Amino acid sequence: MKLAERAQNISPSPTLSIDAQAKKMTAGGVKVINFGAGEPDFDTPENIKQAAVKAIADGMTKYTPVAGIESLRQAIVKKLAKDNGLQYELGQIVVSAGAKHSLYNVFQVLCQEGDEVILPAPYWVTYLEQIKLTGAKPVIVPTTVENGFKMTPAQLQNAITPNSRLFVLNSPSNPTGVVYTKAELEALGEILEKNNIAIISDEIYEKLIYNGDRHISIASLSPGLKDLTVIINGVSKSYAMTGWRIGYAAAPLPVAKAMADLQSHSTSNPTSIAQAASLEALTGTQESVQQMVAEFVKRRDYMVERLTAIPGVQCNLPGGAFYVFPDVKALIGKSYAGETINNVTDLARVLLEIEHVAIVPGVAFGDDNCFRLSYATSMDNIREGLDLIEKVLKALQ
Ligand SMILES: *Cc1c(COP(=O)(O)O)cnc(C)c1O
Repeated sequence: MKLAERAQNISPSPTLSIDAQAKKMTAGGVKVINFGAGEPDFDTPENIKQAAVKAIADGMTKYTPVAGIESLRQAIVKKLAKDNGLQYELGQIVVSAGAKHSLYNVFQVLCQEGDEVILPAPYWVTYLEQIKLTGAKPVIVPTTVENGFKMTPAQLQNAITPNSRLFVLNSPSNPTGVVYTKAELEALGEILEKNNIAIISDEIYEKLIYNGDRHISIASLSPGLKDLTVIINGVSKSYAMTGWRIGYAAAPLPVAKAMADLQSHSTSNPTSIAQAASLEALTGTQESVQQMVAEFVKRRDYMVERLTAIPGVQCNLPGGAFYVFPDVKALIGKSYAGETINNVTDLARVLLEIEHVAIVPGVAFGDDNCFRLSYATSMDNIREGLDLIEKVLKALQ
């Protein structure tokens, strides 16, 4: 059967495929230290699970409004006001089957062939594929470890053409953990506003932020920027709810309406029971978030300390999310156990096959000098895995 061109151009998620390879080795009886995880290693908090159990018992098992139940959308409106200082009405909120689905909807309703979407690299790989699916052209702007993986206003200005339609912002970032400061967002925002470029602001890691920083939504910086921004968020990362599949968008009314209309012909409403659980996540106790953040900080600090002590490794201290993104360009071209490491993908292969440590090569995120390590795994695993990474990197010659 012949596949449509659209389908032929999709690259499968490399982060999920490395995870799958590591899990396959584990299933085969090999002990693998897996730094590939893209989800919290904590269980969903009990109060949230109980809300879902109650929803089932109460018969909340039918279709809901396409864009989500009113109580959940109301809770999202309240959350945006309280956490982000942003006023939205109910009709501007669309709940979907995960933030990934929210992103899919928004790219579909905003972009088409002939449009350009400005995407800073390293980027979360799904953006690239979702942009390509619309026929729009991704304009990738590289950033490096030396400039803290932050796009400068000059870089943004240089990337703009008459076809620029959208800018993708992800702070805190997956894979780098970078958090843009208010001043940095203002500088980018000014250029975007002047050029009337819409912004997709993926704020899924909003709650996983360290150093006492506070998350700033670019939409909160001016009324003009709010009108240009679609905020994407969800419960997956903040509440350890990746399997429940609930994300949401807050958008200008016509955009929200178009997203809901599109959704009405694909998935319809997200799962009713998961919506009930998400309502409890947003309105119930936030204690579990604080506990998770406290644990992540310890792991982050330990990892960065270990990595920066290895010769040839450059690693910034990430401000949020649960990833570190060390740069190893100084080590490329060396060899280990008779194998030449020509790029970071070779390094990832050697680490997995010889030492049974799974890392995600940076090429998956548009940066072949780096790799991503998730610290959503136990401190014991982190210690053991870093011992092995250190052994390999120090033996490279
Ligand atoms: C995990 C992730 C998402 C998607 O989360 P969902 O599980 O689909 O809600 C979106 N953006 C980034 C950057 C992520 O890392």
